[in-house]
Amino acid sequence: MELADFTIKKAREGLKNKEFSSVELTEAYLDRIKKIDKDLNAFLSVTEELALTQAEQADKKIASGEFLELIGVPCAIKDAILVEGQKCTAASKILENYIAPYDATVIKKLKEQGAVILGKTNTDEFTMGSSTENSAFGATKNPHDSARVAGGSSGGSAASVAANEACFSLGSDTGGSIRQPASFCGVVGLCPTYGAVSRYGLIAHASSLDQIGPFAKNVEDAKIVFDVIKGKDSMDATSVEPGISNFKFQISNLKIGVPKEYFAKGIEPEVEKIIRGAIKKAKEAGAKIVEMSLPSSEFALACYYIIDPSEISANLARFDGIRYGLSEPAENLSEVYLKTRGRGLGEEVKRRIMIGTYCLSSGYYDAYYKKAQEVRELIKQDFAKAFKTVDVLFCPVSPFPAFKIGEKADNPMSMYLADIYTIPLKLAGLPGLSMPAGKIGNLPVGLQIIGNHFQEDKIMSIAEQLEKML
Ligand code: GLN
Repeated sequence: MELADFTIKKAREGLKNKEFSSVELTEAYLDRIKKIDKDLNAFLSVTEELALTQAEQADKKIASGEFLELIGVPCAIKDAILVEGQKCTAASKILENYIAPYDATVIKKLKEQGAVILGKTNTDEFTMGSSTENSAFGATKNPHDSARVAGGSSGGSAASVAANEACFSLGSDTGGSIRQPASFCGVVGLCPTYGAVSRYGLIAHASSLDQIGPFAKNVEDAKIVFDVIKGKDSMDATSVEPGISNFKFQISNLKIGVPKEYFAKGIEPEVEKIIRGAIKKAKEAGAKIVEMSLPSSEFALACYYIIDPSEISANLARFDGIRYGLSEPAENLSEVYLKTRGRGLGEEVKRRIMIGTYCLSSGYYDAYYKKAQEVRELIKQDFAKAFKTVDVLFCPVSPFPAFKIGEKADNPMSMYLADIYTIPLKLAGLPGLSMPAGKIGNLPVGLQIIGNHFQEDKIMSIAEQLEKML
């Protein structure tokens, strides 16, 4: 079986036409994982038995003519999303042996549509990072160059699809964690509108930003998965029923905004060339290109790195050695906290808890957290104004392609800068997609398409047309 050829659509066709069974397809992916993942490190756990049982059930359903959206199609899940009865570590020592007691809503939805779950993928610890180097279980390598990172935090999910270890995968995006690894690994990654997909069962990072989304080999597949997982969920009060249509937008009828702040100094010239090339193709296809400005974008990174750690300091308080996972024996309660958190949490997680605690402390709250919220509002207004005149925005995902393992690991500031183009839209709750736009040598470069709230259909119909041209 040529796994490289299998999109969701092709896999379903083959299953429908009885060219192969879901068990055969699942075995092929499991073999591939056995063969290459020791080196790639995209998976933290492979749930072979569960996958084969699900594949058998899928085959029975297919035989009885029940042909669900993802029936028999093998996928991989970021290890920050709960799958009942399976380990969920968030790539942290503190949750090394934690078993998920229930299915996240997205998992329930995948299972209802017959998907086969191969295992859990690597991430930066508690999804904090841009390279998976913050994983307590080693970095994921880039399938295109093993000396380089796969991106992060959902690096394992992106690499697993790029290396044909899974047909599609799920990740989460708080400040770029779906789009940046998708760009580095040369796959499609969609960060949906805030609230479009339930986060019930996703281990919280920063709750006003977290969103679950798909990685896939092409735009059509990303849309299939998004359509399965989206929607209101009574278990997540921030989720809404997106009135998303299936309207096909024609690229020739659209206005595309190109924000100048996303091409400022710091971007690698080769990356700019590829993105400008994609913009030119859209123009040739009839789109109107509007050069524009999002002036508050330059403050987005600073704003994010106050709001994000502040929310982290509150969300991660639950990992106290009492309720979940690791618990170090000690003389008294405060020692349990100190020892468990001291040993169980990694450097970056501790750094953010400390920064966040500081920003939220009574004497500094107004100067940092409140100020950041005001800046967030300005960033939102920039985008709202932009979408009055344009349909979507085109820009790079990252100023550079995948960097070398170790290159930024000791310098948090330079790691944070990797997210300069993926963070602003998150502060506004907007959807964004990364799609392959070209390569520098063998390193993929992604184009980012940003849309207005709940306009995933617009983003994806443009991306689908562009996919054929790039
Ligand atoms: N790299 C960003 C961070 O470290 C984004 C992470 C994410 O989206 N989960 O916060």
